Amino acid sequence: MQQINEKDKLADQRRDMVLNQLQIRGIKDTELLKIMSDLPREEFIPAEFQSQSYADNPVPIGAGQTISQPYIVALMTQELKVNKFCDVLEIGTGSGYQTAILASLARHVYTIERIERHSLTARQVLNSLNITNVSYHVGDGTCGWPTDKKFDRIIITAAAPDLPRPLADQLKIGGLAIVPIGPEIVQELVAMEKTNDGFNTRNICGCRFVKMIGKFGYTE
Ligand code: SAH
Repeated sequence: MQQINEKDKLADQRRDMVLNQLQIRGIKDTELLKIMSDLPREEFIPAEFQSQSYADNPVPIGAGQTISQPYIVALMTQELKVNKFCDVLEIGTGSGYQTAILASLARHVYTIERIERHSLTARQVLNSLNITNVSYHVGDGTCGWPTDKKFDRIIITAAAPDLPRPLADQLKIGGLAIVPIGPEIVQELVAMEKTNDGFNTRNICGCRFVKMIGKFGYTE
């Protein structure tokens, strides 16, 4: 009985989050709103923080990392313009929540996380939700996916000094990257479209992410 009530409460909070955090702030993509209405965010959050599953802020997931605020996940996903023909590269698997949303929209998601424990936990949660169109890699995402594959979309969910060169090279011409660019404290969320002779960039809004640590990122 207790458990059923808890589930109902979380479902109510999820509906409230979609309405009062996403729709009210301009998230309009109906497919994305449906996915976020259905996806149990609590599954991606450590037990001690589960009561904050639908809070309007980042929540700790361990090892000094956080699951991003629901609105920023929605905004980045909407800006990435993912469809069923897209192969998406994600840097910063973290909890796997963003990965799960991307996987529901894309052909396949390739996700890199530098902390092995996060990658393994995310993989377990996605498997338990029957989300199978995802490949996981543990390592430094700033060096790119460890094959010569090219991607239609790239999303970085940690603060980057710029789009790392190996990732710029792995993005197809006409492809799109969403990257929080800037130092540790505050960044600008930037949309970058790859053209024949460089990138068209557009600033979306200010944001705040943990650092992307790696060869073409920041030091620890
Ligand atoms: N989208 C995730 C956000 C996780 S926070 C979520 O909503 O849960 C950012 C993640 O990026 C952290 O888990 C951190 O360990 C990871 N990260 C930082 N630098 C990285 C790098 N160079 N390669 C891969 N992952 C990295």
